[in-house]
Amino acid sequence: MTATHSTRMLILGSGPAGLSAAIYGARAGLAPIVVQGIQPGGQLTTTTDVENYPGFREVIQGPWLMEQMQAQAEHVGAQMMWDMIVDVDLSQRPFRLTGDGGTVYVCDTLVIATGAQARWLGLDSETRLRGQGVSACATCDGFFYRGKKVAVIGGGNTAVEEALYLTNHSHDVTLIHRRDTLRAEKILQERLFKHPGIKVLWSKEVAEFVGGEGNQGLVALDLRDTKSGEISRLEVDGGFVAIGHHPATELFVGKLDHDGDGYLRVKPGTSYTNIPGVFACGDVADKVYRQAITAAGTGCMAALDAERFLAEQDFEESEAA
Ligand SMILES: Cc1cc2nc3c(=O)[nH]c(=O)nc-3n(C[C@H](O)[C@H](O)[C@H](O)COP(=O)(O)OP(=O)(O)OC[C@H]3O[C@@H](n4cnc5c(N)ncnc54)[C@H](O)[C@@H]3O)c2cc1C
Repeated sequence: MTATHSTRMLILGSGPAGLSAAIYGARAGLAPIVVQGIQPGGQLTTTTDVENYPGFREVIQGPWLMEQMQAQAEHVGAQMMWDMIVDVDLSQRPFRLTGDGGTVYVCDTLVIATGAQARWLGLDSETRLRGQGVSACATCDGFFYRGKKVAVIGGGNTAVEEALYLTNHSHDVTLIHRRDTLRAEKILQERLFKHPGIKVLWSKEVAEFVGGEGNQGLVALDLRDTKSGEISRLEVDGGFVAIGHHPATELFVGKLDHDGDGYLRVKPGTSYTNIPGVFACGDVADKVYRQAITAAGTGCMAALDAERFLAEQDFEESEAA
């Protein structure tokens, strides 16, 4: 027989957004259930050094930070479920969601915090050197490359923005693009081309990320010319893959409003989606900032919005009675 769990607040996702929502929801007496998904702790569990999460003078480790957040959420009364939601019925309240083992979750409010994963090139050498010179987030890791040579791979807005951001730390930034024109907005392209610290390599793709001896991490990129096939080597200390993100919103297609890239739309300044009682927070609704602290902040907002929504519903029901 499959289990059924009922809750005032169901939270999908256990990254900074989901766990912050859990802390606020639990402290509001809503006894939230958090469905953790296949990546308990979210994206920060895949990194090592975190230097920009407020509250810590020394560098902390991503997995440690997420363990602390989970422990805090459990301590104040949130319940963690190791499950993955595969089906969602938002046609009426309470909402009904189903986990991949058949467990059913019935909830008065739903907080969606399923995140957005960076797209990678898919090379084995890229996977091997992630966190050792290979990154997908200049805001997160650019600071570690002060005075060093870095490359950004991509040709859209994200790539150009990452390259411009990296000039705060490095005077030697190379943008590598496999075509001979960029897709980025014209205004960004103008800023890029005018910047003395950035050069562009056209019609090149990364054939391999090259690691150094022992634990040295990334030392170079082997580049393939997309026209001639010729291979050349570019020595770099950091390689930033900036080919976009993929918000985890497949479950909600046709059910919730989203933008052209799949990010959930929320009412500006709130976490309200187009369905009353459904709230979105963190990277799944944020294509601009995508940081742990912004995810945590909007997670807090989602819990507060959900609590107020429930209070209004309760009041209306008691008035009607
Ligand atoms: C390598 C790396 C390094 C980074 N470094 C930094 C840094 O130094 N500082 C910083 O501020 N930010 C950093 N970031 C960005 C930061 O990790 C994200 O902005 C943040 O984790 C987003 O939080 P989130 O809660 O919105 O989503 P996520 O952390 O992506 O969590 C999403 C959660 O949703 C769950 N989920 C997905 N689908 C389902 C489903 N169907 N059912 C149930 N659960 C589901 C997943 O299991 C996961 O728990 C880094 C990111 C990466 C990848």
